Amino acid sequence: MFPVAYGFFESETEDNWHWFLLQLRKAIGDLPNLALCSDACKGLTNAMKDVFPEAEKRECFRHLMNNYVKQYAGSEYMYPAARAYKAEVYDMYIANVRSNPDIAAWLDRFHSLLWYRSAFNPTIKCDYVTNNIAEVFNNWIKDYKDLPVCDLADKIRIMIMQLFYKRRQIGRRLEGKILPSIIAQLNARTRGLGHLEVIKGDDYVAEVRENGDCFSRYVVKAHLRECSCKEWQHTGKPCHNALCLITAQQYRNVMMEEFVDDYYSVDM
Ligand SMILES: [Zn+2]
Repeated sequence: MFPVAYGFFESETEDNWHWFLLQLRKAIGDLPNLALCSDACKGLTNAMKDVFPEAEKRECFRHLMNNYVKQYAGSEYMYPAARAYKAEVYDMYIANVRSNPDIAAWLDRFHSLLWYRSAFNPTIKCDYVTNNIAEVFNNWIKDYKDLPVCDLADKIRIMIMQLFYKRRQIGRRLEGKILPSIIAQLNARTRGLGHLEVIKGDDYVAEVRENGDCFSRYVVKAHLRECSCKEWQHTGKPCHNALCLITAQQYRNVMMEEFVDDYYSVDM
């Protein structure tokens, strides 16, 4: 999490959100490889469309589900629909949900922003379906929210300054190209891949499938950082199938780092 901007207003009106997003746009620009994720508040959604025409507009799945369960029963297909990386898998689950015309109309009317991974732009390399990361920030400052507004602004500024200082210190000590926590996470995921079978087509290309199950097979193209399960493209980190090929192949002089997107680099 890297806090970019914060602001204060009395209520979440469209005008206020418009003002805030204009300030944000002055700071970071309207970029095609930017995703904005709203909490499904109407004013914010409209302001996002006005101020950031180029950016991808997403909405938080947790907020959506809070509304969903108040009105409809049977939400078991919504979770796999949101989490699926492949459009075919999303289509399969959402067809079950939309078989109820009331829910279909409700989704179209109130939740037209992107809340399911398969529709996200994979070049953004962020597959979060919730706004939990923003809630972390809210929690971090919640004890100070009763301060007079000038003191609150100053307090948050100082907290962010101290946070950046701490991170710069940590960052300067990091070695290697990619963040060590990411490499450790991927190395941990390479354990327990025994159920997968790798059939090579070339040095960097393979079909990976569950042992003896030809119905669950994926094509990995390691040199392109791609897998047909789409997880690698969306997260920027090799999926299980890719990790299986990478560890089976043990490419000479090629470290795990070469297969991780630059978004996870120490430099970034
Ligand atoms: Zn995969």
